[in-house]
Amino acid sequence: MSASVSPELLDRFAAIVGEKYALRSEAELAPHLIENRGLYHGSSPLLLKPANVEEVSAILKLATETGTAVVPQTGNTGLVGGQTPREGKSDIIVSLERMNRIRDVDPVANLLVADGGAILAEVQKAAEAHGKLFPLSLGAEGSCRIGGNLSTNAGGTAVLAYGNMRQLCLGLEVVLPTGEIWDGLRRLKKDNTGYDLRDLFIGAEGTLGIITGAVLKLYPQPLGHQVAFAGLNSVEEALALFNLAGSLCGTSLTGFELMPRFGVEITAKHIEGVRDPLESAYPWYVLIDISTSDSAETAERMMNTLLEQGFDAGLVQDAAIASSVAQQKALWHMRESMSEAQKPEGGSIKHDVSVPVSKIPHFMHEAGDAVMAAMPGARICAFGHMGDGNIHYNISQPVGADKDAFIARWHEMNAIVHSIVLAHSGSISAEHGIGQLKRDELAAIRPAIEINLMRRIKRALDPANIMNPGKVVSVE
Ligand code: FAD
Repeated sequence: MSASVSPELLDRFAAIVGEKYALRSEAELAPHLIENRGLYHGSSPLLLKPANVEEVSAILKLATETGTAVVPQTGNTGLVGGQTPREGKSDIIVSLERMNRIRDVDPVANLLVADGGAILAEVQKAAEAHGKLFPLSLGAEGSCRIGGNLSTNAGGTAVLAYGNMRQLCLGLEVVLPTGEIWDGLRRLKKDNTGYDLRDLFIGAEGTLGIITGAVLKLYPQPLGHQVAFAGLNSVEEALALFNLAGSLCGTSLTGFELMPRFGVEITAKHIEGVRDPLESAYPWYVLIDISTSDSAETAERMMNTLLEQGFDAGLVQDAAIASSVAQQKALWHMRESMSEAQKPEGGSIKHDVSVPVSKIPHFMHEAGDAVMAAMPGARICAFGHMGDGNIHYNISQPVGADKDAFIARWHEMNAIVHSIVLAHSGSISAEHGIGQLKRDELAAIRPAIEINLMRRIKRALDPANIMNPGKVVSVE
């Protein structure tokens, strides 16, 4: 697929958006050829910034006619190399950064319509301006965009209460690889009319078309919000506390995040403004987030009751409740910076896995034993969205180890951790997607019938295989 694209063809693509919005120089292209973790470095002769859905349509029509590969890229914050063009090929990058409008907010119907290039934080602000909440929240929210969030079916910190992007979307506008425009911007909660085409594009990582617009669900702004940080002795106690929180708070439990001592230590050491609010050290910590829609008092009462009962049951060893919005943000900042805090500690091998919540302690113990047996001295930093069964099982290099030699063991360590995940009926990608990073592993672990179905869908929608080829599932 398009190992090289002629200068004449590049000019035809550039003419669609105008020369000003067609980037060709090395310096302009450079930031778009590398992804966040530096795992992939691709090549591309051209990046196009269309202004509207018609220009996106013209680009994809020409791409299909000429067999030119196209990579959609919005915020370039993806963590599996899905948005990075392939190395040694001439994939053309299509960036939606100019298509960043909030098209409409309907506070009565509790929905918002946005362009695919709208920045997540701007969508949150637009909802807030109407007294509403758009609940998707993640560390990259200042730069990631709705098209990318939908295409990776992003999760984030509030999935426990509100679900991931799939649950937050009512309708889509998509440009198909042929250039046809599908206006599926439906505003309905209930719509049982045939196959669910919307769900086909959500989580497809740009392999089936380009998402140019979306109808998103809004929720009431909570009146009460409480955040607490608790020290615990074991993951088993964290699970028991999660169960208690679920029964006391119901849907008001909006976050339950697990963190290990090592993660808290390095975050307090390396990230500005982060400090451990507890006097003593504990092996494990949880961040508890409660939001209530009736009153502030309800949230306060719930948090106090939960922690009191947690202390009485011997689950909570110590706890601090944030007493201001600034303190709430600081606690979340600690949790969200944990991955970043691993960087000064040297190399880090990552896993984004999920297992049924009840299996988390088994998974943690088995994975810990297996990792330490394979790599004595490894420093495990397993943290994440415990309430969703989603653990970012990160491993920092042993102190003093050679970083390159450590990173060279990435796939070996993945195989060890993923085999335990699969033994517990879990998933090797809970929220980051497949991209280039896990494509071959996906093909190896999913039943042949599922991979074949994915390939048939891909071939039916994208017969020329121009949409983000080589990502998610290979059809070559
Ligand atoms: P990009 O990185 O540009 O693209 C991602 C994928 O979507 C690529 O395959 C790309 O080709 C495709 N794509 C992009 N735009 C379109 C479009 N308009 N149409 C079709 N395909 C498209 N994820 C979570 O789920 N939960 C988290 O808590 C979380 N935290 C994160 C924290 C940090 C600091 C970072 C850097 C990332 C985090 N992520 C998290 C990853 C997250 O999924 C992505 O960052 C985000 O959803 C991708 O949006 P983006 O606009 O950056 O997409």
